[in-house]
Amino acid sequence: MRMRGNTKANVKIFYSKAPTTWHVLEHVIIDLQRDRLPTFPFTATDIHVSRHSTPTSAPDQPARKKIRLLPTKSRRIVVKRTKTAKPSARSFPLCKVYTFSLSIFTLMGSLNFYERFSRTFREHPALSRFLVVLAVSGGGLVAYSEANTQTTPKIDELPEPGNEKKRVVVLGTGWAGTSFLKNLKNPSYDIQVISPRNYFAFTPLLPSVTVGTVEARSVVEPIRNIVKKKNVNVNYWEAECYRIDAKSKKIYCRSSQDDKEEFVVDYDYLVVAMGARVNTFNTPGVEENCLYLKEVEDAQKIRRTVIDCFEKASLPNLSDDEKRRVLQFVVVGGGPTGVEFAAELHDFVSEDLVKLYPSVKDLVKITLLEATDHILNMFDKRITTFAEAKFHRDGIDLKTGEMVTKVSEKEISTKVIKTGEVSTIPYGMAVWSTGIATRPVIMDFMKQIGQANRRVLATDEWLRVEGTNSIYALGDCATINQRKVMEDISAIFQKADKDNSGTLTVKEFQEALDDICERYPQVQIYLKNKQMSSLVDLLQESKGDVSKESIELNVEEFKSALSQVDSQMKNLPATAQVAAQQGSYLADCFNRMEECTKNPEGPLRFRESGRHRFRPFRYKHLGQFAPLGGEQTAAQLPGDWVSIGHSSQWLWYSIYASKQVSWRTRSLVVSDWMRRFIFGRDSSQI
Ligand SMILES: Cc1cc2nc3c(=O)[nH]c(=O)nc-3n(C[C@H](O)[C@H](O)[C@H](O)COP(=O)(O)OP(=O)(O)OC[C@H]3O[C@@H](n4cnc5c(N)ncnc54)[C@H](O)[C@@H]3O)c2cc1C
Repeated sequence: MRMRGNTKANVKIFYSKAPTTWHVLEHVIIDLQRDRLPTFPFTATDIHVSRHSTPTSAPDQPARKKIRLLPTKSRRIVVKRTKTAKPSARSFPLCKVYTFSLSIFTLMGSLNFYERFSRTFREHPALSRFLVVLAVSGGGLVAYSEANTQTTPKIDELPEPGNEKKRVVVLGTGWAGTSFLKNLKNPSYDIQVISPRNYFAFTPLLPSVTVGTVEARSVVEPIRNIVKKKNVNVNYWEAECYRIDAKSKKIYCRSSQDDKEEFVVDYDYLVVAMGARVNTFNTPGVEENCLYLKEVEDAQKIRRTVIDCFEKASLPNLSDDEKRRVLQFVVVGGGPTGVEFAAELHDFVSEDLVKLYPSVKDLVKITLLEATDHILNMFDKRITTFAEAKFHRDGIDLKTGEMVTKVSEKEISTKVIKTGEVSTIPYGMAVWSTGIATRPVIMDFMKQIGQANRRVLATDEWLRVEGTNSIYALGDCATINQRKVMEDISAIFQKADKDNSGTLTVKEFQEALDDICERYPQVQIYLKNKQMSSLVDLLQESKGDVSKESIELNVEEFKSALSQVDSQMKNLPATAQVAAQQGSYLADCFNRMEECTKNPEGPLRFRESGRHRFRPFRYKHLGQFAPLGGEQTAAQLPGDWVSIGHSSQWLWYSIYASKQVSWRTRSLVVSDWMRRFIFGRDSSQI
C-alpha cells in the first residue's frame, strides 16, 4: 500500500479459525513489538477478533501496550495507521510472514493432525471446497500484500531536458524479460521491447491448462498492461529478432503479422531474454508427430487433442484395438513438466472423463517414458520414490531407463538403455517434454562473438555476455560462466599480500576474505560442504597442525589449499525462479547504473585495480514443487525440507496465487480452481 502524507489507511487481515491465522497475528504483533521494521508505517491501535475464535493457542496477551484483543462479532482484524507514521513507499511484508507461517503450519504440523485432516477430508468431500476457498483467500492475502510492496519511480528522477536517453532493447517477454521490465524504475532509458508474444505467460500453470483445470487466458497478461503503469518510456513491437549484430549494435527483426515485414533497431544496451526451444535430440519423427508443452498454444492443442481422442474412441465403427491405441497417451520425459502433465491428465481422466465416456473408460492408458533410471531426478530421493509409488498406484505405466528412438504417425519406438531391447508403443497422443535447446538466432550470435564451441550463451557473473560490452543475457537462453578461483589464484595472492613479502599472513588473508567470497561463491559452498566456518580453517588444514595466528603461506601453498574449491561450481537450473531473479537483478543494476559507476559497490578486481561496479548476481533458491495429482504435491524447500501430500498442495495453491503477475490473472486463476472444484473440468471440444 502506498502511503501519502498523513492520510489514514486500513490494513484488513481477513480472519479464519485456522491456526495459521494465529501465526500471522503472532508475527504481526511480534514484529511491531520488537520494532524490527523501522519503516513500518503503522501502529496497531485496535484489533477485533471474532468471539468464536479466541483460540487456546493464541499468543498470550500479545503486545499489551499497543494492541487490545476485543471479543466482537467482527470478522476482521484492523490495524490502523496513525498520524505519527512517516510517509513511506514501503509497506509491511505480510506476504513473508504469511508464507512463513503457512510453511510452519504445513511442514511442522504433526502426523496426527495430518491423519485426522485427511480422514475428515475423505469423509466429508464438501470440506474440500471449503478448503479451496480458505487456501485461495490465503493466496489472496499474500498477493494483496505483495501487490502493495510495489513502488512507483519518482518524477524528479527524469533526466534534464536535452540529455539523450540510452536505448535499451529487450528481446523476449517471458519470465526474465518481464521481470526486468517490471523492476526497471529509472526513467532515463528509452526501452524497446521486441517479442513475438505480446503477453507474459505463467508457465508453471501450463500443465493445468492442458486439461482445463485452469483456462489459457487466466495465465497470461498482456505485456502492454504490465508496462503501461510505468513512468519509464517503454515501446513494444510484436516481432521476432532473427539476427543480432553486436558490432554495429543493431537488431534485425521480422514482424509477426502476415506480411512479415522486416525492420532494424539500434541499441545502446541489449537485454537478450529469448528463452529456449524444445530439445528433440534430433529424434526422427518427433517434430512431425509429437505435441510439445512449452507455450500456451501447445497447452491448448493438447487439451483439444485429448478430447479428440476420447470422441474418436467413442465412435461406433472403431475396433477395440484401435480404440485402445487412440486412448493410449504417451508422455516422453520424466522431469517436473512431464510428471505434472501425466498427473493432470490422470486426474482429468479419472475425475471427469470416465463419467462422460463410460463405454471407453477401461481402455485408457497413460505411459510415462524416462531415459534415466528415475523420474524427477533433480528432486530429493524421497520425492522421487513417493512419486514413482503414487504413479504405480494410479495405474500410470512408468517406463524408466528407456529412450525413444523414433516416432511414427501411430507408434513410438523405444530402446531399453541397459539391454538394448527394442519395442513399440501404439499411441493416440504423444507429448514430448525432454528439456530445452538453444534457439537458432542465439546460436548464430554465439558464432559471431566466438562462443561457437559452447552449448549455451555464456555470461559473466553480472549477466553480461562474454566477449561483448553492452549485451546482457538472462533466463533459459544463457548460463553464467562462473570464474574459477584457480584462474586468478596468483592475482588473488598478490592483492592479498599487501606488504609484498611473498607470504600471506592470516591478517592479510582475512582482509581480502569478503572480496574473495563475494567474487567466487564456490569458496563458500566448498567450506560449507567441508563443514568449515572460515577460509582460515581451510588454510590451517592445508598447513597441518599449526595454530591459526601463525599461519603464513607462500603462493604454492596458497594454490594447493584452494585447489579443490572450483569443483563445487554448478550451473543454475533453467527455471522461472532463476529467470525472474536475474531480471530483477539486472533491472536493479540499470536503476543504479550512474550511482554505482561513481561509487562501485562490487568486490575487488583481482586482476586490475579498483572494484567492480555491482555485486555479482546471486541466486536464492526458494524451493520447488512437483504436483503429483489427486490434490497431492511434493515440495522441496530450502534447508532440505521435504513435504509431500495434501498439505503441500494448499501451500502450492497459496504460493501460485500470490505469484501471479496481476490482480486480473490472480482472480481468474483462483476462480478457475473454484470452478473446477465445484463443477469439474470442461470437456467441450472448442
Ligand atoms: C510447462 C512448463 C512448466 C514449467 N514450470 C515451472 C515451474 O513450476 N517452476 C519454474 O521455476 N520453472 C518452470 N518452468 C520453466 C520456466 O518456464 C522457464 O525456465 C522460464 O520460462 C524461462 O524464462 P525465460 O524468460 O528465459 O524464457 P521464456 O519464459 O520462455 O520467454 C522467452 C521469451 O522470448 C520470446 N522470444 C522467443 N524467440 C524470440 C525472438 N526470436 N525474438 C524476440 N523474442 C523472442 C518469447 O516469445 C518469450 O516471450 C516451466 C516451463 C514449462 C514449459
